[in-house]
Amino acid sequence: MMSVQQVPFFRPDIGESEIGEVVDTLRSGWLTTGPKVRAFEEGFRESVHARYALAVNSCTAGLHLALESLGIGPGDAVLVPTLTFAATAEVVRYLGAIPVLVDCDPVTLNMDLNDAAMKIARLNSGRAPGRLPPHLLVKGMIPVHVAGLMMDVDAVRQFAREFHLWTVDDAAHAYPAAWRQNTGQPWRQCGEGTAAISCFSFYANKTITTGEGGMIVTNDAALAERMRLMALHGLSADAWSRYSGKGSWDYQIIAPGFKYNLTDIAAAIGLHQLARAEEMRTRRELVANRYYELLGDVAEIELPPNPSNRIHSWHLFPIKLRLDRIGIERSEFIRALAQLGVGSSVHWRPLHLHPYYRQTFGWRPDDCPVAAAQWERLVSLPIFSSMTEAEVDHVAAAVRTLCCGRSRAAMTPAAPAN
Ligand SMILES: *Cc1c(COP(=O)(O)O)cnc(C)c1O
Repeated sequence: MMSVQQVPFFRPDIGESEIGEVVDTLRSGWLTTGPKVRAFEEGFRESVHARYALAVNSCTAGLHLALESLGIGPGDAVLVPTLTFAATAEVVRYLGAIPVLVDCDPVTLNMDLNDAAMKIARLNSGRAPGRLPPHLLVKGMIPVHVAGLMMDVDAVRQFAREFHLWTVDDAAHAYPAAWRQNTGQPWRQCGEGTAAISCFSFYANKTITTGEGGMIVTNDAALAERMRLMALHGLSADAWSRYSGKGSWDYQIIAPGFKYNLTDIAAAIGLHQLARAEEMRTRRELVANRYYELLGDVAEIELPPNPSNRIHSWHLFPIKLRLDRIGIERSEFIRALAQLGVGSSVHWRPLHLHPYYRQTFGWRPDDCPVAAAQWERLVSLPIFSSMTEAEVDHVAAAVRTLCCGRSRAAMTPAAPAN
């Protein structure tokens, strides 16, 4: 009956236009940073209404450059949600500063600002969690818009103002995504002044891809200049034009920078992904809507929130198992899904439960109890722009089989209890 046997967790959506542009780049004689990167930066910058954009070879590189430009170092601390990918916190460590891990909201899975305030209060009163060194000064915060559902940007801004923090968006999931405070107010894109600096990812399984790649946007000229300098060995600004074959042979090393520039080969893919970004987002939204339709009545799971004052990028579709009702553990659920031909994933084991953060800073599970509890329930279902309706239906049917089948079985004891 079912026309689909296997649904992968993700499949990239690469068209003939991307392929043609890459071939054109290969034939052009210019492979590294050049005109296609410039065009990609310009197009991206316009699409999020930001003043400056810098293409880099990953979002991780972007976050590193962002934090470096803001001048953090040893003795500084940065608020980082515990429910995020490794990159968000490791870049703080690159600079010798310390990530202070913050719990998540149980519904949105985004950073919980009340817990952030509590963590700052504990630091200030000498009751630092774990083995964080005393006298840490919290300088900034890195909100992550988990799955592509934006945080309340006004609340973040108010919080940052109250505690004198800068903000850097880890916007790896949030393109294209938007937010508004209230119905009737204009939409604001992620990256449209939503933080001092916003960093996007074009990793292979992100909403738009260049294979590997990232983009930094900011409205601050000085930060933009510092990041451009540090992205290419700390060479003076002219070096970029030299790099693209237009400048002089001479250059000046201003600082010991990094090697984070994007190639024209990657940007060639990005140019066409950018042009199709909203169309691809709409397709993921249709997948999400069909999941709501087909799974909305399944009592064994909770579906992700979709508030009316957000434009969701739908990078992920994380469901939460109601472990008390479903009667199996998450790992068993994932294994059973795989047996029914459905790929899935988990986003993420919280950082405070990882050996590095436990051993180095003494984090314990109950330092972020909500994330510790929620992650045991999380399963991300397939959602991608090239997903067919039959594939969505196959996934939904598999989830229903596991949920409804199991709970019926659980309600019917195999043998009398006495
Ligand atoms: C993917 C991801 C990153 C890293 O992006 P790269 O481009 O692979 O460096 C950072 N943060 C989050 C939340 C991510 O999901």
